[in-house]
Amino acid sequence: MGILSKLIRKITRPVRAKRNGVIGERKVINKLNPLFFEKVNHRQINNLIIVDEHNKSHQIDHIEIRQNGIFCIETKNYIGWIFGDDLVKKWTQVLYNGEKYQFVNPLKQNKSHCYHISKVLNNKYTINSIVVMVNNNADKIKCSNVINLNYLTEYLREFNNGVSLSNEEMDEIYNKLLEINSKMTNKEHIQNIIKTKNEIAQNICPRCGGRLVLRNGKNGVFYGCSNFPKCRFTKNITISN
Ligand SMILES: [Zn+2]
Repeated sequence: MGILSKLIRKITRPVRAKRNGVIGERKVINKLNPLFFEKVNHRQINNLIIVDEHNKSHQIDHIEIRQNGIFCIETKNYIGWIFGDDLVKKWTQVLYNGEKYQFVNPLKQNKSHCYHISKVLNNKYTINSIVVMVNNNADKIKCSNVINLNYLTEYLREFNNGVSLSNEEMDEIYNKLLEINSKMTNKEHIQNIIKTKNEIAQNICPRCGGRLVLRNGKNGVFYGCSNFPKCRFTKNITISN
């Protein structure tokens, strides 16, 4: 029974999270496409899925291409107070009843998305990472690129790091990213994530298929890939709660 309910939870959790995610993404799309009197010259891709050389899929909520740069936007629809910074592995959500939950640091998640986008574009452009808190609860996070939804329009308008893309460049970037957009569905992407998690749980390296073996490092014991140094995948020893 325990195993069964655990399994069911494992399957339903990403789906539920995804549904909340879709509502959040819709709100961001509305902000990115303001009414006609504020119209901006931009190209936009929503829900891009990139499959990397390790057959791992990455789902990117929004890519906004404007004259002042390329923005990779990760949407978070959490309620309550959110605590975190750019360095910690997990962020903490504190609900109004005091319950606490942890989730993967979206800045780290988005950093990897930016890396993959940049690679597709032959590392020719800087990809600007933005995490948008849909419920406008970014205030406790002291990172300039973690912003409230209410601030997104202004943030994009004011952003300036000296880049000026022409219409032709914007088209080229847009077409190149659309070209690599995987035909994978969101469902398949989630299944892929579950598969990776299961492999890691069974001490199989998700990157190369090797075994994950216990190793002694300077920060303590951890799991490393048996194909080290060819494969540098590591897994922390987690105490489940
Ligand atoms: Zn490996």
